[in-house]
Amino acid sequence: MIKTQTVEKPQPVKKGMLDNVLEQFNHAADKIELNPNVRKILSITNTEIIIHFPVRMDNGDVEVFTGYRVQHNNALGPYKGGLRYHPTVDIDAARALAMWMTWKTSLAGLPYGGAKGGIQIDPSKYSKGELERITRRFTYALGENIGPEHDIPAPDVNTNDQTMAWIADTYMSTKSTSERSKNQHVVTGKPVGSGGLEGRDRATGYGVFLTIKFWAEKNNESLKGKTFIVQGFGNVGYWAAHFLENEGAKLVGVQDAFGSLQNKEGIKVEDLFNYGKANKGSIVGFPEASELDSKNFFGLDCDICIPAALGNQITKHNARSLKATLVAEGANGPTDVEGEKILIERGITIIPDIMCNSGGVIGSYFEWLQNRNGELWQMDEILEKLEKKLRTTFKKVTAYSEENDVDMRTAAFSIAIERIEKAYILRGIFP
Ligand code: GLU
Repeated sequence: MIKTQTVEKPQPVKKGMLDNVLEQFNHAADKIELNPNVRKILSITNTEIIIHFPVRMDNGDVEVFTGYRVQHNNALGPYKGGLRYHPTVDIDAARALAMWMTWKTSLAGLPYGGAKGGIQIDPSKYSKGELERITRRFTYALGENIGPEHDIPAPDVNTNDQTMAWIADTYMSTKSTSERSKNQHVVTGKPVGSGGLEGRDRATGYGVFLTIKFWAEKNNESLKGKTFIVQGFGNVGYWAAHFLENEGAKLVGVQDAFGSLQNKEGIKVEDLFNYGKANKGSIVGFPEASELDSKNFFGLDCDICIPAALGNQITKHNARSLKATLVAEGANGPTDVEGEKILIERGITIIPDIMCNSGGVIGSYFEWLQNRNGELWQMDEILEKLEKKLRTTFKKVTAYSEENDVDMRTAAFSIAIERIEKAYILRGIFP
């Protein structure tokens, strides 16, 4: 019997993400007086793939899933960007996230374009075996729409190195024996030991931490004793908190999909991480903190706020309540345009997502190079290279922002878009 999967009504969090990224783009495009033809090209995505595919469940029934891959632009190189498994994944979310990837890779100076995709699914409702079959069947259905020199997926919300290993294995299995090993870099974020990069797991969170550190250095401030809150205690939130704590900062609030916690005296990051691991991934019930109503989370007293979960979390509804003086965007699109206006009016600095969380895709680039060149890099050199690359971007963005008297997001977008504009002008349009 074929049973259609009951797809949950998408939650409102993703609403407007596309409007958001387009407004950010148009704002920067106006400032730099972007070539009107290039603006037309960049305002829309190149390719959009929607796939409905059947998978057999553990109980013998078949469910049909919906998967997406949107390729926004490849003027600078192969499409690059993650795959997320979440009920909010739909065509608009994939479009918005793909556009952010284009700006992110361009800003970081990588030879990549931007793409994003995923499956509209709540992965917690499926067994590991089912998730493996879902992933493999989706990969098979994507076929040559992905490829090591064409479009290179990576982990994102609710996907990880295991997901990437299944994708790599499935993709490579469709190739002839002699071609297989040449295709390992069809995805990045693979497990170390199976083509993965040492430190790729922490690359995004480390990058978030580094941009905060650069900001503190620039303002002659120390992170020691600074308080911070983190929304999302997944890969990005956890590692950012880990490195901040190492530097002497104090975690005073955390929120995940299940609830929110606070402790003015500080929450020990490793203790919370171990608690979460033993508690089906949820932080709720952690004994050394008290619970608070999730709607009051962003109003917690702190110096630094790190949204590291989903899009559109800081909006006109809560932006006035923020106590932090710095927002470091670990997530993609966590602050919407209206929320951002309020933060800027209130003098709150935002380290924009396309710079703040770019450590992940920079790590992916290193992994891709490592696979392509048959090399194995060491953790120390990787983290050092990552720091160097991010520092260069941070300097460029802050200098641009000061010279042109614009906020950091507009500066970051302007630099990213100008690089793509230049490529188009040099290359021209076929035919
Ligand atoms: N999903 C991550 C992001 O949003 C990483 C993408 C990649 O490494 O390709 O930046």
